[in-house]
Amino acid sequence: MPEPLTDSDRARRAEQARTAAARLTADGVDGVAVTWVDTSGITRVKAVPPARLEQAAAWGVGASPVFDAFLLDDSIVSGRYAGGPVGDLRLYPDLGRLTRLAALPGWAWAPADRYDQDGVPHPLDARALARREAERLAGSGCTVRAAFEIEWCVSAGTGDDFVPAGQGPAYGMARLTGLAGYLREVLTALAAQGVAVEQVHPEYAAGQYEVSTAATDPVGAADLVVLVRETVRAVTARHGMRATFAPKVLAGGVGNGGHVHLSLWRDGVNLMSGGPGPYGLTPDGEGFAAGILERLPALLAVGAPAVASYLRLVPSHWAGAFACWGRENREAALRLVTGSAGERSRAANLEVKCVDLAANPYLLVAAVLAAGRHGAGAGLRLPEPVETDPAGMDEETRRKQGITALPGSLAEAVVAFEADPVLGEALGPEVVDTVATVRRGELALFEGASAEEVVARSRWRY
Ligand code: GLU
Ligand code: MG
Repeated sequence: MPEPLTDSDRARRAEQARTAAARLTADGVDGVAVTWVDTSGITRVKAVPPARLEQAAAWGVGASPVFDAFLLDDSIVSGRYAGGPVGDLRLYPDLGRLTRLAALPGWAWAPADRYDQDGVPHPLDARALARREAERLAGSGCTVRAAFEIEWCVSAGTGDDFVPAGQGPAYGMARLTGLAGYLREVLTALAAQGVAVEQVHPEYAAGQYEVSTAATDPVGAADLVVLVRETVRAVTARHGMRATFAPKVLAGGVGNGGHVHLSLWRDGVNLMSGGPGPYGLTPDGEGFAAGILERLPALLAVGAPAVASYLRLVPSHWAGAFACWGRENREAALRLVTGSAGERSRAANLEVKCVDLAANPYLLVAAVLAAGRHGAGAGLRLPEPVETDPAGMDEETRRKQGITALPGSLAEAVVAFEADPVLGEALGPEVVDTVATVRRGELALFEGASAEEVVARSRWRY
């Protein structure tokens, strides 16, 4: 049982908030957006003026637990642990992450930790679960560094049809030139917010762009998903355009991924490099990777949580539709990125490619860390790496190499998730039931819908 907040915790939070509020007021900030991400992957918010920040930090901001049972269209399902009108939670802004929003003048942001009214973390608080998984790894002497790649599509104008902005060839300089002022403002806003951008580029699909940020602690990486996308969304709106992070934006096209990069460290040493295993993996690094690989079907219920996710997760679209791994293989769900000779001890990492930005990033971090920790603890070994696109192999070759297709539907992923003991233990019965209930709710919502309808109804929700 987690310990409830104490009087001295509250006093410390209040003190921190007083200092922060004075600075915000001096900086002309009028509102602090306090966000959390719901089970369906949508960022929800309550906001307070700086004058109320002390109260919010010490005692939280009221919010219903019903949001855990919201579907992407704001309808509500009812599970065993979430979905009713009764009850109340408290959102505690994490002031350690308080950030002035460069693209929303007069606004600041802080991610919330959700507690119940007795001051105990709520069992459905995904951020607490991510933190707990990071702490469990720390208990075995390991830390994880993580980063999400953020892909999004920009539509010209503000209409509901998707009209790709930034014409030109995939990855073409013309696409950068076409939206140079916009992309520059994305960079300046992120820099002003202290976000370390490693790269920005036009992606494959028309109107599609990507930002990657430097690796950080796992909870911080999930926080950055919220901060970066809301920054991109705000900059896009300032330019009279619309941004979508939905897994699929046009039924026939390439989707938006939300690939997660992870490296495991002990005593300052990267366990993804310099070892005796395949491509230099250490035994713990290999076990961590094998643990994730083994659980990918179940992890998809968290990491590819939308009906639209399965329109993205198709072979030969760089989404990683097969449960296999390979060095620098963009068609393997798990890609080992070794980095170049000379930088491997710093750069080597795993990339989970099959996941997208409809995922609650905190829940995804918690689930992936649990899978990796279990794999390392059990000393799992990886199968042979795959060096080609598995879609190009015949069925028999894939079978011989033990390569299986990942679930082709959300329904299949939910079944695997509910049966998974490791994720069940890490996330707890409340999360397992609520995730399954919300996923089945979305499946029912889209029952019989064509791909075009699913895409159209999901496009502007993420
Ligand atoms: N857009 C692709 C996806 O759906 C990823 C492209 C890439 O490898 O960066 O995940
Ligand atoms: Mg990409």
